[in-house]
Amino acid sequence: MNSMIPALQDSHNRQFSYLRLSITDVCNFSCNYCLPDGYQCDSKADAQPLNVHEIKNLVTVFAQKGIKKVRITGGEPSIRKDLAEIIATIKGIPGIEIVALTTNGYKLSENIQSWIDAGLDALNVSIDSLDPSVFQVITGHSRLQETLDGLNKALALGLTKVKVNAVLLKNYNLNEFSRFLDWVKHTPISLRFIELMETGDNREYFHQNHVKGQDIQTRLELSGWIQRIRGKNAGPAKEYEHPDYAGSIGLIMPYSKDFCKSCNRLRISSLGKLHLCLFGEGGEDLRPWLQPGINKVLDKDLSRTLSDRVDVALKGKLPEHYLTSHKTGSTRHLSMLGG
Ligand code: SAM
Ligand code: SF4
Repeated sequence: MNSMIPALQDSHNRQFSYLRLSITDVCNFSCNYCLPDGYQCDSKADAQPLNVHEIKNLVTVFAQKGIKKVRITGGEPSIRKDLAEIIATIKGIPGIEIVALTTNGYKLSENIQSWIDAGLDALNVSIDSLDPSVFQVITGHSRLQETLDGLNKALALGLTKVKVNAVLLKNYNLNEFSRFLDWVKHTPISLRFIELMETGDNREYFHQNHVKGQDIQTRLELSGWIQRIRGKNAGPAKEYEHPDYAGSIGLIMPYSKDFCKSCNRLRISSLGKLHLCLFGEGGEDLRPWLQPGINKVLDKDLSRTLSDRVDVALKGKLPEHYLTSHKTGSTRHLSMLGG
């Protein structure tokens, strides 16, 4: 953390240097754990997501408050035609060091060069199965090969921070665990196994498909994977490496004890609400403070008001989520907020 900028800190001594910014809640996939019936317009469907100027104003204020990394997410962010412009805009904001993107791989092959040219530093691609038919059952699309082609192109273009997200699901892809590991043996990616999270819409599915992160951790350790020593400001993922493998493994275990103690991220919805937790209620609407001065960086008073609102909101960040008590807040599915 740059010592000139006081870190954003909550009342539980956690510091925040990482912002996850959703740029749309619309998605073209229908992952069965997230949007099994595909994207459904709700009453706010006519509300437009933050435009590039609003994003610039917003991220500028957060950068002044110590945010160094921004992950662009969704819904499916690649649906937005101005994604390259958004990447370039965020990358150009003083203080922002890393611009990352999480995508289902749609248009990856076609657009990765322009995203890298715009300043993209890191890429996460969601690939829940390496079997084309299982991939189709989970996502609703037969696009596994296109997604893998896009991923390989990103690697060939020299992008070094490339991760793959896979949610392990008891009745769909758990039996591919070894196949995933074989893939990582020769592919220099960081594969992140994400523990399925319960949301408002997927309760029954969750109970049928949840796999305990602890069980995966045990399997990895028995196969010779070694946990990396965690950096001081590392986020909640546990990182593993193995001398015989080109890639590494990350475990995201939201149900594990103390998961929230290392929380280092804040979230912004596509409509400009600040969410302190993936499983909180509502969100603090920041959009009214992004509107004026839309063609230039926010004027000083607005910037100060916005900054004060963030500080006040942060005081209300709870010590942990309450997923183990099945409290999922107002989160019906993660496409609302970007995971
Ligand atoms: N559409 C993009 C994608 O799928 O990569 C970005 C948004 S998606 C919500 C971000 C990540 O959240 C994906 O890796 C997805 O697999 C994960 N995700 C969605 N719902 C989840 C759930 N209920 N539990 C765990 N991970 C989930
Ligand atoms: Fe869309 Fe991503 Fe949700 Fe799948 S996980 S439905 S790709 S938002």
